[in-house]
Amino acid sequence: PAPRTETHLHLADRFVAHNYYPLPVVIAEAEGAWVTDVDGNRYLDCLAGYSALNFGHRHPDLLRAAGDQLERVTLTSRAFHNDQLGPFCRDLAQLCGMDRVLPMNTGAEAVESAIKVARKWGYDLKGLPTNEANLVVAAGNFHGRTTSIVSFSTDPLAREGFGPFTPGFRIVAYGDVDAIRGAIDANTVGVLLEPIQGEAGVIIPPPGYLRAVRELCTASDVLLIADEIQSGLGRTGTTFACELEGVVPDVYVLGKALGGGIVPVSAVVSSDAVLGVLHPGNHGSTFGGNPLAAAVGRAVVALLSTGEFQKRARELAGVLESGLRQYLGAGLVDVRVQGLWAGVDIDPTLMSGREMSERMLAKGVLIKDTHGSTIRLAPPLVIEEADLAWLIERLGTVLAEA
Ligand code: PLP
Repeated sequence: PAPRTETHLHLADRFVAHNYYPLPVVIAEAEGAWVTDVDGNRYLDCLAGYSALNFGHRHPDLLRAAGDQLERVTLTSRAFHNDQLGPFCRDLAQLCGMDRVLPMNTGAEAVESAIKVARKWGYDLKGLPTNEANLVVAAGNFHGRTTSIVSFSTDPLAREGFGPFTPGFRIVAYGDVDAIRGAIDANTVGVLLEPIQGEAGVIIPPPGYLRAVRELCTASDVLLIADEIQSGLGRTGTTFACELEGVVPDVYVLGKALGGGIVPVSAVVSSDAVLGVLHPGNHGSTFGGNPLAAAVGRAVVALLSTGEFQKRARELAGVLESGLRQYLGAGLVDVRVQGLWAGVDIDPTLMSGREMSERMLAKGVLIKDTHGSTIRLAPPLVIEEADLAWLIERLGTVLAEA
């Protein structure tokens, strides 16, 4: 690597915990869909902060909202009110067609919060016996890294060495509504699902699955909790991936793009009945709902309310899908596309996802493998059509050279 990059790689190796295996590129600046490294090389960002950068790097509206708020007040704690939180929660609740918002910071925190709320809903409203509540979850899930969340992960790397685990979760096959039906019993409070599994490799469930799960949850009086942290907020061509099946969950769990790539902002969004189970002292967060986060989150909701980004993801989906499909049988073995989001399985005899990511880096494109020979493409929704075509052309070149 070039000299400045080399220096930073050494520092990271020496002083940063090795819980990631980053590609050897050190980013110093970014705008829109493009980033620049410390040695002045430019790259097209096709990971977009794992979909936290749906609106691109440093979107002017979001920078303005953050900048204005930096001039006023950044943190109050929830011991006091602030003048950004109410407007943000009103706008987000309206975007979701829900009543109320529980503001948190990271995705994992919001998932944890949704689990706590669902359990309390079961005890307070359904009268379940103390400590008997269970939730049904899907194999292959990714909901975050906290102790309770890895308790129901099926990824050995995420779990091994971290027990003892939190009980109360039932893992069933993803995409199989009968498996969920078989797992629900009198003590089930919720079904927690990603409408499309992101980290698993953009796994799109069979048509009708989400709708059938919705009907099952309604009939069984259990909460459908949609983790839209990665799938939501425009990525799939709709505001929420649930909309693709005309499904409205009982609880949305949101994060990533909600903070516009500027600050961590996450939320649990639901009805008065569900979020009404929380009373003062039951739950909280020092930073959750802080005025800087709320100001940025509100600007994000304003961007989404225009529908422009969802439309862009829908329109460019065809370019991405047809572009990738031309390499099926010529280096790629499967392609799954929804909006501007693609899971791409490379022929494992050609190269691993890691190797593909490294070769694409050398060609000026940032992508990341999910596991094995699978990569995920999730460019910012502001990407130019020509840049998207260039990404596809680069991918073709790497496959041809393999
Ligand atoms: N849920 C889903 C579906 C995710 O994709 C992620 C992150 O990749 C999370 C939860 C966890 O979010 P965070 O890393 O902000 O804790």
